Amino acid sequence: MRATVIHGPQDIRIEEVPDPRIQRPTDAVVRVLNACICGSDLWAYRGVAKRQAGQRIGHEFLGFVEEVGPEVRDLTVGDLVVAPFVWSDGVCEYCREGLQTSCPHGGFWGIPGSDGGQGEAVRVPFADGTLVKLPKEAAGDEKLLPALLALSDVMATGHHAAVSAGVRPGATVAVVGDGAVGLCGVLAARRLGAGRIIALGRHEGRTAIARTFGATDVVPERGDAAIEAVRELTGGRGAHAVLEAVGTEESMRTAISIARDGGGVGYVGVPHGGSAGVDIRQMFDRNVRVGGGVAPARAYIPELLPDVLSGAIDPSPVFDLTVDLDGVPEGYRAMDERTALKVRIAF
Ligand SMILES: [Zn+2]
Repeated sequence: MRATVIHGPQDIRIEEVPDPRIQRPTDAVVRVLNACICGSDLWAYRGVAKRQAGQRIGHEFLGFVEEVGPEVRDLTVGDLVVAPFVWSDGVCEYCREGLQTSCPHGGFWGIPGSDGGQGEAVRVPFADGTLVKLPKEAAGDEKLLPALLALSDVMATGHHAAVSAGVRPGATVAVVGDGAVGLCGVLAARRLGAGRIIALGRHEGRTAIARTFGATDVVPERGDAAIEAVRELTGGRGAHAVLEAVGTEESMRTAISIARDGGGVGYVGVPHGGSAGVDIRQMFDRNVRVGGGVAPARAYIPELLPDVLSGAIDPSPVFDLTVDLDGVPEGYRAMDERTALKVRIAF
């Protein structure tokens, strides 16, 4: 089969790789129908996150179950399934608590020895614990399919930011970051009943999506000017809940500074600036909580799925470019140069 392989910074190739096969009785093989490129894949693309030359890449996909091991009980050949961005056994203490990202048997797609999501097929460990079944009819629905694909990471991650920040009905919410995760955070905050949603971002195409997702205000400023602008919009107090979806020192500092006294920050941007930016003293003086981290997408997909199927939430506008497998290197380039927000790969 063919799959996406990373050889080094800016060096993404489509190559012939061994066909996946069942290796353990709890495995399944999924024939990929749709996958996508994540903002976090760009850290590897840019050489910031190190990868071995020849490593697979991609961690968001949905497709049809093609083969199951003898111990797979909940899935059968032909099922349409979506994969969260980590696999997990589904039975350990962490999995039962809904923190599948801490599963001791879990792993991240594309780590050495595993398949990445940006390929024609994927061997899925612990298929019952990992995969979530979707209605088969969705496979032919070109509008619904990208919305379901977003559940594998960005929508679940935006939701995790909102939950971790403590979004409640009527709350004033601020979202730092206008990437796909930040936009999904806006959608998640609206779903949880936020009264007012302030989106921080300056890219017009993206803030336009933020508005359709429920943002009531847009703040294009950055740094101190952004802090000032949010304070001004909120009577000097700040937001009850702040979603941080960037992962830099500056974005974390902004997020904590625009939280209202007693408020919360939910951070889901993969940190690339160490712990600097977390101003413990400011948090102490103003009783600001910081929570979040890597999103347990597997716990959230069953909760979010009915709302995606009913159309109550539709994250599909975050995909603004669709490529085939051969177009994946171009898709990385487009996201790196910010000419594309998020790229969908249709097989
Ligand atoms: Zn587990």
